[in-house]
Amino acid sequence: MSFSKILGQNKALNFLQILLKSERIPPALIFNGPEGVGKFLTAKEFAKALNCIKSGKEDESLFADEQKKPQTEKELTKPCDSCISCEQIEKRAHPDVRIVDSVFQGLLLQDEINKQKNIKIESIREITKYVYARPMLSARKIFIVQDAGNLTMESQNAMLKILEEPPADTIFILICACKNLLLPTILSRCHVIEFKPLPASIVTDILSVNSIPLNEAIMYGEISDGSVKKALDIKNLMEKISGFDPMDPAYAFKISAGLPKELYLAREEAGTFLDILIARSHARWKINSSNNHKNLLTKLMTFKKYLKQNVSPGLILESALIEASETGISIGVGDKNV
Ligand SMILES: [Zn+2]
Repeated sequence: MSFSKILGQNKALNFLQILLKSERIPPALIFNGPEGVGKFLTAKEFAKALNCIKSGKEDESLFADEQKKPQTEKELTKPCDSCISCEQIEKRAHPDVRIVDSVFQGLLLQDEINKQKNIKIESIREITKYVYARPMLSARKIFIVQDAGNLTMESQNAMLKILEEPPADTIFILICACKNLLLPTILSRCHVIEFKPLPASIVTDILSVNSIPLNEAIMYGEISDGSVKKALDIKNLMEKISGFDPMDPAYAFKISAGLPKELYLAREEAGTFLDILIARSHARWKINSSNNHKNLLTKLMTFKKYLKQNVSPGLILESALIEASETGISIGVGDKNV
């Protein structure tokens, strides 16, 4: 992995390169933008570039004081990806680069990883120990907070206290899909770097490099809203319903019955199904300009709004699938009309 493998985010990467060359790194950065567009990968590569001890050095020299000195401009702008620092960051094993996410919190609280929806105060207290300690191996301590929008209010206030007087050589990278979920007082202490949705062609390229057949990669890319994560979510949903027959009268009910039990997950999954139907009816409408497909599009958009209200995601999805099937649109991977 290297910066060159991060696609479609040239503006953000160029700015980070300027920071690396200047060696004047703000103590707190926010990487803001949709999920699945490369924010975390970029944060990881940036951390590598900041703490890289460059290729060609002996591993033991990592502990030597001279390795803690800032590197030259040329060396800083590109991680070697092979020194012990880069390798440890890649494996989440670098003692000066901490990643706060559901894995970190699950291990800390000895709880299931997929239940860690919010970043609790315990996680912030845990990293605070390292924030005020000296770096162990590298010149800088770096804290990458995934889904910072999920910081509880208590956690945000604790984070704010740190950001008010951050220790020297400590850098925070808050990764966020919606920066406005953060306190204005946190926002005012961070430099925000915006990440954009990826072009569909780049999502397709990334998927096909990862062994997804090109025809499917194109289809997922076109309805992904520029997010690799969303494209993979769609792929997983398609696989989940691949055993159902669209001609089965109970098709809609079977898909609806398979929604997750947790309401927020059911809402999310039903929303993705609706996005697929919307993309397909839009594509069909562009081809034949029929009123049927235009009306269907309007109905599907209305269903999407209902999802945000207190209406059962299962009922909405069933209604949407039935309406769509009446105009010949199904949701399976076999539908090539996208
Ligand atoms: Zn390196």
